[in-house]
Formats: sequence, C-alpha cells, structure tokens
Amino acid sequence: RIAYVNGRYLPQRDACVNIEDRGYQFGDGIYEVLHIHDGHFVDTDLHLARLARSLREMALARPMSDAALLAVLREVARRNRVTEGIVYMQITRGVARRDHAFPRAGTAPALVVTARHGNAFPRDIDAWAAGAITVTDIRWGRCDIKSVNLLPNVLAKQKAREAGVYEAILIDASGNVTEGSSTTVWAVDANGVLRTRQLDDHILPGCTRAALAAILAENAVAFEERGLSETEFRAAREVFLTSATSFVKPIVTLDGATVGDGKPGPVARRLFALFARHADGDAHN
Ligand code: PLP
Repeated sequence: RIAYVNGRYLPQRDACVNIEDRGYQFGDGIYEVLHIHDGHFVDTDLHLARLARSLREMALARPMSDAALLAVLREVARRNRVTEGIVYMQITRGVARRDHAFPRAGTAPALVVTARHGNAFPRDIDAWAAGAITVTDIRWGRCDIKSVNLLPNVLAKQKAREAGVYEAILIDASGNVTEGSSTTVWAVDANGVLRTRQLDDHILPGCTRAALAAILAENAVAFEERGLSETEFRAAREVFLTSATSFVKPIVTLDGATVGDGKPGPVARRLFALFARHADGDAHN
C-alpha cells in the first residue's frame, strides 16, 4: 500500500509522522473519508466543501488547493489500484514544540492520504441490514467539525462491537437522538414521517445526508429535519443510517428489540435503490 505524506508517495509501512505533530499530540486536525465506487469518488464536491468548512472553523491553513488535493486523492487511489473502497485524508496543524496554543504563523499543515480496498457496493438490502445499540453521547460542543478527536466515538463503536452489532447510536443529555458514532441517523416515525435531526453544532453534517436530501427532493419524497426523542425513536417504524461507507444501512434491531417487523422497511428500500443509482451515476461522471 502507498500513502501520501507531506508531498511524497511512500510505501505505507515506511510512512511516518513526527512525534510532535499536533494531530498526534492534541488531536489538532481534521479528516475526510470518500467512498470510491467503480473507480470514481462519490459526492466529491460535498466532501471538499465540508473539508473547507472544517479548516475554516479550526483556523487551519489549507495545505493546497482543492484541485491539487483532488489530484493527490486520485493518485493515491490509482497507486493502490482501489476501484471499490475508500480514500482517507487528514490535515493537522503540523509539527511544533508542544504547546497548547497555536504554533507561530507559517507552520506548515501536515497532509496524509491513504486508500483502502472495500467491499463491492451493496446490492442486497436484506444482507446489508444490521443491528445497533444506544449509548450516551459524551462528546463536545463542536461535533459539526470533522476533527480527529474521536475518542467518544471510538468508545461508543467498541461497545457496539462488543454487543455484536454494527453501530452505537448516541442519545444526548436531553434524551434526544443525535447521530451514530460514525453515521447519520434517519427514522420513519410512528406516524410514517421520515425524519433526520436538524443540523447544528451537535452533529456532523453528513455528506451522504446532504446527497440523500437532494435525492429526496428530486423524487418528491417528503422528510423533516427534526430530531427524535429516545421514546419516538424506539417507536419508529423504520430506522436507517447513512455515511460514505454505510450508504443507506437499515437498522433492524435496536438494543436487542426488533425495529418494525425486523426487516428493512419500504422507505429504506426505496432510498437504498435511489442512493445506489446516485452512486452509480457519480461513478459514470
Ligand atoms: N456522523 C459522524 C459522527 C461521522 O463520523 C460520519 C462519517 O464518518 C457521519 C455522521 C456521516 O457522514 P458522511 O455521510 O459524510 O460519511
């Protein structure tokens, strides 16, 4: 495997970052994950726009233009011969003597890009369905920034792993669903209304969420950007997750209880098919 590290393409096993990199020491960095389908990136513009926003919110310097970055992403995917999988990029505030406050102006940001083979795009929604548990959301107040500070997400996902399920869905101190440890949560409530939480500082603005919202609008499928209480969530007819690597993922068990009739519901089925068409379309651009 080949990685890009600060201007060089290296065998991944030889690729290192400095022990005083601020990403390593403080989690002072951001990242993006793009899905590669049929040799092309999916929702590239949405991911680049979110990256720009994360950089701005963190007052992080941009290591290069979007066009140059896209060329690096393509080159890493090409060198690793990844046609189905993911590309990962991380930008940190660079290397400086350890001190919490920002280093002096001009410290170069550090950019790392890797790519990894993944499974073929799922075509069978029943095989793609999974279980989830709920856990307390113990994260900070700026979850809208895609920062590499993922410790609460790591602990939540580990609980899901230990419970033998796919995802841990986070419930905040007010008893409302925020999002999954690495996914956006959607539900069809007891009244049949498709809902996903409104965007604010407490959740990541998912690129797959944005892509799906556009698909819903194009297909005149109504949905509401309104969060669910834990009680509403447990009474939901359907639950599904979205992310660059989960696509549209039906959740058919929640804390061991069946969601709906325990099979992907009609809304998830429709959106799974529409999203697959969208990803295929991106791949043929
Ligand atoms: N929420 C969190 C906390 C995430 O980490 C992710 C992606 O990794 C998402 C939501 C989904 O975002 P996207 O659709 O851009 O992959």
